[in-house]
Amino acid sequence: MKTLKIGNTTVDTVLEWSGNLFDVGAFWPGRSWDAVEAERDWMEPHFIAPKDKSKPGVLAASIHTYVIRTPRHTILVDTCNGNHKTRKTIPPFNNLNTDYMEKMAALGVKPEEVDYVMCTHLHLDHVGWNTKLENGRWVPTFPKARYIFAKTEYDHWFANMNGHAMDGSFEDSVLPVVEAGRADLVENDFAIDDSIWLEPAPGHTPGSVCINLVSGGGSALFTGDCFHHPIQIANPDWSTQFCSDLAGSATARRKIIDKICDTDTYILAAHFMDPTAGRIVRNKDRWKLKI
Ligand SMILES: [Zn+2]
Repeated sequence: MKTLKIGNTTVDTVLEWSGNLFDVGAFWPGRSWDAVEAERDWMEPHFIAPKDKSKPGVLAASIHTYVIRTPRHTILVDTCNGNHKTRKTIPPFNNLNTDYMEKMAALGVKPEEVDYVMCTHLHLDHVGWNTKLENGRWVPTFPKARYIFAKTEYDHWFANMNGHAMDGSFEDSVLPVVEAGRADLVENDFAIDDSIWLEPAPGHTPGSVCINLVSGGGSALFTGDCFHHPIQIANPDWSTQFCSDLAGSATARRKIIDKICDTDTYILAAHFMDPTAGRIVRNKDRWKLKI
């Protein structure tokens, strides 16, 4: 994604991983590739590969962190999978060793200059770089940052550490941050200031939040995993096998569509392929992502 300017704030992405990930019938149980083909006209080439190159039945995903730089703060939203983490349940994310931190440095972000790390929820692909391995121990990667976790979300996974899409991530990427005294367990409408605040969006997980950004008349909504792929903008009732509340997840998507459709607010989701940023607009009796 090119640097997105919103008022006097910039948003960049640090890409950790991208590739074929969403096997449509398995990831969205009972949903068909025909429904994906029906939206090909606006999804091609970024969100569905051209027909001669596509892997039938599978959609690609991006795993990235958003870097928000306001005049006051440097803020990271979602921290991908991390390096050296054992993730047997999702083989593409097992024991990664990527150049994520070098990419972060190339953007001019030094770990000690990050003020806030915000996780939209605590699944394994959103918390990984919260910590890094140092002398055999997991320590906060961003040593001076406050890590913002919604308390509802934290409490849920504290009680279900080995639930779906966790695979040891709570122990190696969340608890060490809390034990180091760097975490703030907040209400799910917590505000950093009048330009950045959380908004509850339960469904995918019990404490999922969206993050609002407003600056200089512009705005963006970081939607985490309320949407995994733009196909769900056309089909907001498509909840995933990883959603803890299927109906709640669909409700969260509809609320987001109602809130930002045909406005200037960008949707910045956690896994949309490059160019990632777009706006939700009406498309006949459905909706689509306009980049
Ligand atoms: Zn995710």
